[in-house]
Amino acid sequence: MLKSNCDFSKRIFLRQNIVNLIYCIADRRTFRKLYISRTHFSLFLNEARGNPHLSKMIEVKDLVKYYKKVCALNKISFEVDEKVPFVIIGPSGCGKSTLMKILSGVLEYDSGEVYINGKNMKGVPPHKRDISLMFESYAIFPHMKVFDNIAFGLRMMRKDKDYINRKVAETLELVGMSGFENRSPLELSGGQRQRVALARSLVIEPPVLLLDEPISHVDYQLQRKLMEDFKILHKKTGATFVLTTHVQEHALTLADAMVVMNTGVIEQIGTPEEIYRTPKTVFAARFVGDVNLIPGEVASKQGNNYIVKTEIGEFTCTTPNSREAISPGVKLAYGIRPEFIDVDSKGRTCDNQLKGKFARAYYFGNYVECVFDVKGKVEVKSAVPTEQAINLKLGEEYSLGWNSGNVVLLESPSVIEGLNIEEVIYGK
Ligand code: ADP
Ligand code: MG
Repeated sequence: MLKSNCDFSKRIFLRQNIVNLIYCIADRRTFRKLYISRTHFSLFLNEARGNPHLSKMIEVKDLVKYYKKVCALNKISFEVDEKVPFVIIGPSGCGKSTLMKILSGVLEYDSGEVYINGKNMKGVPPHKRDISLMFESYAIFPHMKVFDNIAFGLRMMRKDKDYINRKVAETLELVGMSGFENRSPLELSGGQRQRVALARSLVIEPPVLLLDEPISHVDYQLQRKLMEDFKILHKKTGATFVLTTHVQEHALTLADAMVVMNTGVIEQIGTPEEIYRTPKTVFAARFVGDVNLIPGEVASKQGNNYIVKTEIGEFTCTTPNSREAISPGVKLAYGIRPEFIDVDSKGRTCDNQLKGKFARAYYFGNYVECVFDVKGKVEVKSAVPTEQAINLKLGEEYSLGWNSGNVVLLESPSVIEGLNIEEVIYGK
């Protein structure tokens, strides 16, 4: 599939830009990048054909992908609703790029099904899908001006000159790059190149835009700016955005719905709030937000009220009704997010309390992460507002408290079977 696509692109490319090709052959590294870009451009050849009656834009069922013996995707299934910003979050190597390449059609898979806009994608080449992919390494043509980089896809679609001029100008305006038409990519900052790559993906108005780690390679300030840009762009274009990241802040800020991935599997699917408030596994709780985890065992249960026995005391938890019942005797992790742990006088008003020695502090601007040592056995973190934290003294003992409604009980470390809960908690 990949080969025939490239051959097609190659023919047009050779005809249109023989001088550029010689340049690229002279520089093998550039040529390699260009090879990726041509595959990318084959994705541009499709016109928008969104079906307004379908609410599911992407459906993935039991998808499996092996690279020889490495299982990159192990029977994953999920759905993406039309027009939503959807985020796939997971650590490096968990299979995000593999999944994006399969969705875009540049990579074959071993088994399972992929539907886009209601159509089974088996055997459908990239240029016949309603999708545009912006690769992780935003490969733009280094030897072409910004205008030509963006116009390239439209030229391949044989659009007329006036249309191309208008569309490129509109798209540059959309990504805040008007006036940069005649610059070479070499004269742009990393963030500006990122925007050109984005403009190149957007110019053909794809119903689905896949963005593989689009903001991980730029500095923090620019990441924040690009996150705002994505939100605005998503609203303006009305496309379905699927974005991968390994940074939780990006996912929580951008996603309406998200999946948390872990080495080839999906740990949880839901809204950012659902995953944050009711994570299903230790892995999901850890990957989306920070969490204090204390190993324990359910001592008793009355309705939705649990008492959990841990090595630093017995604590309560009130689980939401939707949660499956957990029987007494079950070993689990008792989890509380640092922002739900109150310190000192506020802590003394909570359902659950203990005492801890103020051991360390990390300043985060509007709050301070204070680490308390409990009986020399467990460390408990609290996110204390800065104005309160400045009155706390290192080495002193303080009351810590939290309410039972803010607790999560996590029975399984991961959807991957055979992991030990204590090993996951303590990283042994
Ligand atoms: P991510 O994008 O989440 O970092 P990838 O999809 O790139 O993860 O990789 C998933 C797994 O597949 C990793 O173990 C990676 O080493 C492996 N992998 C990716 N591409 C190849 C390839 N072309 N050949 C062999 N293994 C690969
Ligand atoms: Mg990747």
